[in-house]
Amino acid sequence: MDLKKIEDGFRLMLEGMGENTQREGLLETPRRVAKMYQELLSGLADPSVEKDLLGTQFTEVYDEMILLKDIPFVSMCEHHFLPFVGKAHVAYIPRERVVGISKLARTVDFYARQPQIQERMTRQIAELIQRELNPKGVAVVLEATHSCMTIRGIKKQGSVMCTTQLLGLFKTSEKTRAEFMATIHSSS
Ligand SMILES: [Zn+2]
Repeated sequence: MDLKKIEDGFRLMLEGMGENTQREGLLETPRRVAKMYQELLSGLADPSVEKDLLGTQFTEVYDEMILLKDIPFVSMCEHHFLPFVGKAHVAYIPRERVVGISKLARTVDFYARQPQIQERMTRQIAELIQRELNPKGVAVVLEATHSCMTIRGIKKQGSVMCTTQLLGLFKTSEKTRAEFMATIHSSS
C-alpha cells in the first residue's frame, strides 16, 4: 500500500473541501488517515494469505454442525468508503476435515478488511470454506449496520442488513437450515 499517495490524495480532498491543510489540527491528518486505511484495509496487503486462511486442518470423525456465532467485524463499503459494522455467523458440517475455530474468525476478518459489499463478503467466506474443507454444508450469515445508510442519505438509524449464503446441506435440508437459524438467534 502506497501511504504517501493516500496522504497526498487526502490532502487534495481537504483542499477540495475548502480547508486550510496547514492549520495545526489538520497538519498530521492526512498521515493519520493513510495509516487508518492501511489498518482497515489490511486484507489487501497480501492476497496470497487467502489460500492459507484455513491452512491447518485436522481429520476428525464429527459430522454435526460446527458453528461460530457473533464474530464481530468492521468492513468498508466500497460504494461510499464508510464503514459497515456487524457480526458474522459461520457454520459448516464437516465431511472429514475440520479447522481450529479461530481460523473462521480470521477468515471473516480477512474479507472484511477490503473495500467490500456485504453480499460479496458473505459469499466469499462461504466459498472459501467450501473450497478448502469440502464440507457437507456451509452457512454464513452477516448482520451489519451501514454508516452510508445511518449517517447520510435516508438516515435509517439502527436498521440492520442481513445477508445469507447457504451451500450443501444447509441449502437442501430444511431441518439443517432451521437448526442453524434457531441456534444463531438463540441468546445462550
Ligand atoms: Zn455504502
